[in-house]
Order: sequence, then C-alpha cells, then structure tokens
Amino acid sequence: MPLYVYYGGYGFYGYPLWEWILLIASLVIAVAAQINVSATFSRYQKESNASGLTGAMAARQILDANGLQHVPIEMVEGKLSDHYDPRANVIRLSREVYFSNSVAAVGVAAHETGHAIQYQVGYTPIKIRAAIIPATRIGSALAFPLVILGVIFSAFSFLVPLGILLFTAVVLFQLVTLPVEFNASSRALKVLRERQMLSPQELKGAGKVLHAAAMTYVAALITAIFNLLRLLAIASRNRN
Ligand SMILES: [Zn+2]
Repeated sequence: MPLYVYYGGYGFYGYPLWEWILLIASLVIAVAAQINVSATFSRYQKESNASGLTGAMAARQILDANGLQHVPIEMVEGKLSDHYDPRANVIRLSREVYFSNSVAAVGVAAHETGHAIQYQVGYTPIKIRAAIIPATRIGSALAFPLVILGVIFSAFSFLVPLGILLFTAVVLFQLVTLPVEFNASSRALKVLRERQMLSPQELKGAGKVLHAAAMTYVAALITAIFNLLRLLAIASRNRN
C-alpha cells in the first residue's frame, strides 16, 4: 500500500496533502531561522563589548591560548559567511565580524575557534562529519535524479535504493552537524567567560546570537528529513 494513503490521500497537483504540509512547514521553519539569526546578529552587532576586542582579536587570543598560533585568521566577504576551513586550517571571518568590537562579532569569532579546537582535539562528531562529506555532496546533487530515473525506467530500478541510500547520508550529515555546532558554541561561551573577554551581561547576548545560528542547522536537518520522506514516497508510489 502506498505511503500516502496513510497520510490523508491526494492533495493538489497529484501530490498528497501531507507532502504539501511538510514542504510549507519546512520552508517556514527555514525562513524563520534565517530571519531570526539576521535579526539577533544585527541587534548584538550594535552593542560594543567593554574590553574593546574585535572579532579578529578575540579569535587570535583564543587560538593562541590553545596552542593554535599556526592557524591564520583571514577576512572573507559576505554576510554571516564566517567559517573554519579544515583543509586549509584557517579561520575566515566576515568583514562585519573581523573588524567589529561588538558582542555579536566576538561571539561568532569565538565559535569559529571552537571548530579549529574540535579538529585539534579530534572531536568525534567532526571526524564523522568530515568522513561523510563526499557521500553528502553526491547525495544532495544526485539522489533525486537517480530515484526518478529508477522510477521511470524499470531497467534502472536499482537506482531507487541507491538514491535513497545516498540521501540518507545527507540526513546523517545534517544530524551530526548539530553536536558539532552546539559544541563549538559551548566551547566559545566557556572560553569567553573564563578569560573574561566578555562580561556576564555581554555573554548573554553572545549566547543568543550563537543559539540563533544553531537553529539554522536544526532547520536544515528538518528540511533534509522532509526530502528523505519525499524520496521514500516517490519510491513507494513506484512499487504500486
Ligand atoms: Zn559553526
């Protein structure tokens, strides 16, 4: 029996209603998470921290204190484009974070040092994440074309489970991203508190910025799970 029968029958344009509801829900969640992180960042970007540290200065201090003097900090264009690049072993901070002495900038910069430290100490979830990146790239690009090809041409029906397997890697990747991101943020807040780089009041603001950023990864996981359900539904319709 096809999956969609259990979820309320047909909806619009031949798609079952439950698929539409999940699609709209995941879009709303993703957009809300993006708006929230932008708004929270802007709010605490207006608050300068009392110690006058810029994002770049804060990141340098934390890296040096962890024996990571060899990890450079570069500036990168784009809004909220801050990241740690494990292959080049470099932290790249957006212009707004690099030069700003705001509470938000120091929070984001400290978060990125958290990723560099995760690599240094061999934090398990980040190793799993790195290991499944190739499958994730293939999965997000090819899973839907493979499954659809397998559904249309019965000679290629073996592509259906292959596509689903590849997309499962995407879901796993988004899932294991959550401990990586939450752990980088808790490392950041801990070091900012211990080294007194931010005051207790400022720490609350930085925490809100990092929490809002983490919610975008939760939204990405929800979207990935929804897409996996859609793939399973396509495969299930094919069998009937
Ligand atoms: Zn991160």
